[in-house]
Amino acid sequence: MPRDVLVYATALTSRFRGLDVRDGVLLRGAVGWGEFSPFWDYDDRTSRPWLAAALEAADRGWPEPVRERVPVNVTVPAVDPERAHAIVLASGGCTTAKVKVAERGQTLREEEARLEAVRDALGPHGAIRVDANAGWDREEAVTALARLDRAAGGLEYAEQPCADVEDLAWVRRRQSVPVAADESIRRAEDPMAVRRAEAADVVVLKVQPLGGVRAGLDLAEAVGLPVVVSSALESSVGIAAGLALAGALPELPYACGLATVHLFARDVSAHPLLPVDGALPVPRPGEVAPRPGASLGADGETRARWEARLAAVGG
Ligand SMILES: [Mg+2]
Repeated sequence: MPRDVLVYATALTSRFRGLDVRDGVLLRGAVGWGEFSPFWDYDDRTSRPWLAAALEAADRGWPEPVRERVPVNVTVPAVDPERAHAIVLASGGCTTAKVKVAERGQTLREEEARLEAVRDALGPHGAIRVDANAGWDREEAVTALARLDRAAGGLEYAEQPCADVEDLAWVRRRQSVPVAADESIRRAEDPMAVRRAEAADVVVLKVQPLGGVRAGLDLAEAVGLPVVVSSALESSVGIAAGLALAGALPELPYACGLATVHLFARDVSAHPLLPVDGALPVPRPGEVAPRPGASLGADGETRARWEARLAAVGG
């Protein structure tokens, strides 16, 4: 089927996942726009669900939402305390912060200082979660979480303290901070292993790697644990699909990780999905679209690379 295909590229306002530039494809179908933006280190097979998510948004739309707004967290990278404090204050009213920890080359003392600064900026009623991105072994995780929990004045949960599902379960049994599984769901052949091992209290779901909003809803139901919907560092078109999932989940007890558009120096939309009062609206299918008639920052070489990739993955 012939369809509009636009390629975007933007500088990032801070380095993320080793990237200074983010790029991807926007596809238009009968219903609206979808985003296909697997990272460049993903092979064609791994990228297939990402395309399914884009086609769902473009051609089919999403299930009816059960809420209109989704609370979102501010993300604090492994920065110094002054910068961490400033990021929280500039977050658009977010009352939940996700703080990167287990950063190579940093001491636990530096990470405690970052959490103290975040608590100071959020106030006593804010929620603080940490993301270790599997950076600890299980003993390190138990030691670190006790100290970071104290420094933060209480942690909401710790995302992926260790890499292995068995280690997550071990850490979960040995200390009091709840555990969230992210990489153990997203990169796993069998996302249900987390449930079987009783390895997590919360699961982090992302729409593109899972293959769409419906696939995310199905997995949420199968896993039977509270869900936090997060972005894969997408433009507002991709974030709209994340909000559709968060909007359609029967329960949404935690703030979602969908406030990432501010990391784009230039978003694709004239109305970027940036939080107001700590929340984002749940858009209708087709509501979030690229700026009409504008160039989206991709040069000829980037456009050719994405067109070739789209063909290889099955577009
Ligand atoms: Mg994570």
